[in-house]
Amino acid sequence: MLSKVLCVLYPDPVTGYPPEYARDDLPELPETYPDSDQTLPSPSKQWFEPGSLLGSVSGELGLREFLESQGHELVVTSDKEGKDSEFEKHLPDADVVISQPFWPAYLPEERIRKAKNLKLVLTAGIGSDHVDTDAAANAGITVAEITYSNSVSVAEHAVMQILDLVRNFVPSHQYAVNGGWNIADCVKRSYDLEGMDVGIIAAGRIGLALARRLKPFGVHLSYFKRHRLSEELEQELGLTYYESTEELVRNVDVVSIHSPLTDETRHLFDEELMNSMRRGSYIVNTARAEIMVRDDLIKVLESGQIAGYAGDVWYPQPAPVDHPWRRMPNEAMTPHISGATLSAQTRIADGVVECLEDFFRDERLRDEYIMAEPES
Ligand code: NAP
Repeated sequence: MLSKVLCVLYPDPVTGYPPEYARDDLPELPETYPDSDQTLPSPSKQWFEPGSLLGSVSGELGLREFLESQGHELVVTSDKEGKDSEFEKHLPDADVVISQPFWPAYLPEERIRKAKNLKLVLTAGIGSDHVDTDAAANAGITVAEITYSNSVSVAEHAVMQILDLVRNFVPSHQYAVNGGWNIADCVKRSYDLEGMDVGIIAAGRIGLALARRLKPFGVHLSYFKRHRLSEELEQELGLTYYESTEELVRNVDVVSIHSPLTDETRHLFDEELMNSMRRGSYIVNTARAEIMVRDDLIKVLESGQIAGYAGDVWYPQPAPVDHPWRRMPNEAMTPHISGATLSAQTRIADGVVECLEDFFRDERLRDEYIMAEPES
């Protein structure tokens, strides 16, 4: 069966699609992900140059040749909002929709109802909360993502954002760029991470990768997740377990959030919770923006209760120009990029091809990729 694949990707760089890259190749990685027997994505062929910019419109996730050589149709657009968007125009007869959490094609129930041919929704990355997964499964649609593809990428970003906050990197860099030599201005909010208590909310793939990376900093690590890790792993990483988010956040200096966005985690970080933390705590959130109460976060930063917030995730995405998190004090925000490195894009695009190959053969996708599927 020939399929129409509708792919929503972020726009190209404002300087144009890169004619060349900063590096010539990517390092070779083991066949399986760290601490796991899960193999990296394994399509029958790699259809693109590894290390190229695949996630923007001109990169087409490296799918054009793969799909068109088999007679399938590929539509790529970044125009995703509103009923006159390219996305809505093509949705009614699309068989497959692909988008990335960095530039999500939101699929609430009303859009799913319009998508009469839709059978597969792929998240080219991790986190499918932009899709109403129950409505999708009820409509006979499978929702899948490329589990583990960018977990280490995000963990590295979280290490960076923790250090950015604790060392007061962003304002210090700004002094350097602006021609200043304001040592005192830079260091008046700068500390060592060494010796601090660091708490990880959700020690899954990203959370554990973060713990492994932070251990050599000489910090005291603790975590919360619903199912406790093995005693062996806790001992190996020196992890203290707390039985709830509430208990964890009271006992640490730095909190890094790595849980999915669910009914349980939505708006978990409100003013009351953040006021229960140690004064001068830092929060890093590379998980999902709606885990925070947007305006409560601004209040606790303005009061000084929270010494800094570094997030990589916003709601909605793209964030409007006047989003208040762009102007709050003591932030080290990035647009949603932590899982979008060129290194991750290669794994993500390979994973998408692997899923599409299974889908076209009418085979079930890998278990670990499936987020929701129709009842058989
Ligand atoms: P993962 O391996 O599935 O880990 C998620 C962990 O969350 C699990 O260990 C789970 O353990 C825990 N969890 C679930 N519900 C929880 C709750 N209510 N309270 C506390 N812990 C809870 O996923 P991952 O690869 O680490 O990714 C985690 C999240 O990061 C994704 O869902 C996504 O939203 C986000 N992400 C962001 C980016 C980015 O670019 N910024 C990229 C990838 C992923 P229990 O079931 O035991 O609780």
